[in-house]
Amino acid sequence: MSTIATCGICQGVLELRFAGSGQPPLPGDFAPTCHRPRAYGDLYRCRECATVQQPSLPDGVDLVDLYREMGDSDYLAEERGRRLTANWLLDLVERRRAPARMLEIGCGHGLLLDEARRRGWETRGLELSERSALHGRERLGLDIREEPFEALGNEENGCWDAVLLIDVLEHLDHPRDAIERATKLLAPGGVLCIVTPDPASLTARIAGPRWWGLLPAHTYLIARRTLRELLIGQGLILSDDVPLVRSFSARYWVEGFAGIAGPAAAAVRRAAAKLPPQRSLALSLGDERVMLAVNEQVREPEARLARERGGPDEVHVVLPAYHAAQTIERVAADLPIESFDRALLVDDASGDDTVAVALAEGFEVLRHPANRGYGANQKSCYTRAILDGADVVVMVHADHQYDAALVTEMVRPIIEGRADVVMGSRLLEDRAIAGGMPRWKWIGNRALTWTENQAFTKDFSEYHTGYRAFSTEFLRSIPFLRNSDGFVFDQEIFAQIVDRNARVVELPIPTRYFLEASSVSFRASVRYGLETLTVLARYRVDEKRRRWSLLRRPAVDLQPTAQSAPNSEPVP
Ligand SMILES: [Zn+2]
Repeated sequence: MSTIATCGICQGVLELRFAGSGQPPLPGDFAPTCHRPRAYGDLYRCRECATVQQPSLPDGVDLVDLYREMGDSDYLAEERGRRLTANWLLDLVERRRAPARMLEIGCGHGLLLDEARRRGWETRGLELSERSALHGRERLGLDIREEPFEALGNEENGCWDAVLLIDVLEHLDHPRDAIERATKLLAPGGVLCIVTPDPASLTARIAGPRWWGLLPAHTYLIARRTLRELLIGQGLILSDDVPLVRSFSARYWVEGFAGIAGPAAAAVRRAAAKLPPQRSLALSLGDERVMLAVNEQVREPEARLARERGGPDEVHVVLPAYHAAQTIERVAADLPIESFDRALLVDDASGDDTVAVALAEGFEVLRHPANRGYGANQKSCYTRAILDGADVVVMVHADHQYDAALVTEMVRPIIEGRADVVMGSRLLEDRAIAGGMPRWKWIGNRALTWTENQAFTKDFSEYHTGYRAFSTEFLRSIPFLRNSDGFVFDQEIFAQIVDRNARVVELPIPTRYFLEASSVSFRASVRYGLETLTVLARYRVDEKRRRWSLLRRPAVDLQPTAQSAPNSEPVP
């Protein structure tokens, strides 16, 4: 990939971020413990997806050969800390999946697999470095194969309950393909665990060219938002996104900081030498992410509410739900079943009977393994709909706050080719207070709407409705998977709508407020207001700088997948 001018993740434009040493990498530079500062080649950053990449590194067989020859005699000096870190990670994985079959890609000496086996996992590892693999096989008695990841046959697909890529993605010449391949290996309900440095983290930005993540061996450093996008784009449900907590001896930590201490380095090293060698320290610098994504399956009801109509436009109704057991029946009764082909409810790990009630009412159900928030729920809704072949997707809240009977009107402007987006507006005819919206909320909503209209130079009647319909063609054109997992997702998507000049139709809708309807607290509303103002500020800054990754092109092209055709019969 020596002369690549475009991003290896999203095909975006690359710009030089840090000039390199000009020296070719040495085999020792590929060892996990090699932290030679600024020994890397030229580092580029993608303007679209913020991935940092080192195009001067070899690829294909040449890269594989470098790893085969790699030895790292220092690696086991920190064995105790590495085993502690492994157990911290295994605790996370086991919150999502009980021990069964685990595959670790790039397993090194096999320390994590050794710990996993002790906890009841049946394990296999892949490792290119002959010496590391030998250690795992001979000393620890593990099943470790010296095969590249790509050599795994298709017969392994759907077989693994946990697939781990820990500090591996950043060493690969095709990390996107690796994520795709790893996803295929997962059994239903299986967990993909990725640990990789985040070049967009605060620590990385403060450390600049001396950040430890900028190594001669690192091909791609994928920014957190982009990594989330790549994982969810595979149809996986992101269950965890947390900073890695690593354990090392206190001495190792302090010596590491000496590398970025500049003129104080010698003093820091002397201090490190005085620390007791047995003292270990668990610490997170916030610049390395742990992401867990689950291969969650859609659950089929015994009798579907909707049947495929066979028309030219496939309409999916999606319902983000949280503690909605009391209201789902009424929503189902109101839905005009002649106007859509599929009804999918996504439950954000409710503690009540939302899933059971939804299945009984004929909804297909996707359940989040952990509570992720309203924005995360919408990502699951839209992604599943697009992957399953929808042309139009309409969001209806499961809490009966909006009139589900209006679905027909909501999708009509899109089907008729007049709109990309339809917004149900409670304020177009100002029936909101009559419908019971609290006065403080009405005033706040109006003030924010006025401000947003100024910032976007638009004239919409409201921005805070939860009743929305989209053409999937429009959704596929924006990187909505990079948006927030929280409520501000709705405002970020508005920024994307305005930036893309999408055609928006507003439809007047009545509002209803009653006890079951999810009413957001005053405090949460203030936070939402501040986050909204941040979105507006970023939008305005981006008009000049063109750097906000939410307004750039998506890294994943969501395409309908053949095998998960909607309205296929339930598997007996
Ligand atoms: Zn890119």
